Amino acid sequence: MTKKPTTTASARKTTKTVVPVHDLDVFALDVTERDELFSTLRELATDARTRAYAPYSNYRVGAALVTKTGRVFLGCNVENATYGATTCAERGAVQQMVAAGEREIAAIAIATGGDEPGAPCGICRQVLREFARDLPIELFNVPEEKRVKPKVIATSLAALLPLSFGPEMLLEDAHAKGAPATTGTKPSKSKKK
Ligand SMILES: [Zn+2]
Repeated sequence: MTKKPTTTASARKTTKTVVPVHDLDVFALDVTERDELFSTLRELATDARTRAYAPYSNYRVGAALVTKTGRVFLGCNVENATYGATTCAERGAVQQMVAAGEREIAAIAIATGGDEPGAPCGICRQVLREFARDLPIELFNVPEEKRVKPKVIATSLAALLPLSFGPEMLLEDAHAKGAPATTGTKPSKSKKK
């Protein structure tokens, strides 16, 4: 029923592929469709992770999100010599998404190293919340040593960030509903005249 983003041979191409999927609701997909979608996202996140810039921690992370319109955006962590200017993979993907004019995240897969999949930091959870009330999330590790087993944790934003604060608390026409983001930061409580 719901069309899924197509996978192309090149991951880089896939990020630019626009497959109009109006209102992609991953929660509503059947198990097979959801597995296929996440399989694609995991592949793309793994690929993005190879381009992570993490010379200090050597903890490389890749993220691949799909929007409700079926577009895929990638991110990787970008560390900085000041440490404080480091940005995470999840936020990198969100920034690309917003710059492309998209406002609604349907699902995200996050690739880390380590013995266990790494979960998004608190800041990234909140940033994801800006563009989705809830969304399915898959966390997985990419084994770099033979003793490490690949694991996938299927979770959701609501599970990772309960009782969350979101744009609808301040904006009547939150972009979560599809409207363009407001340019100002002041809350527009009333639009009715
Ligand atoms: Zn983060």
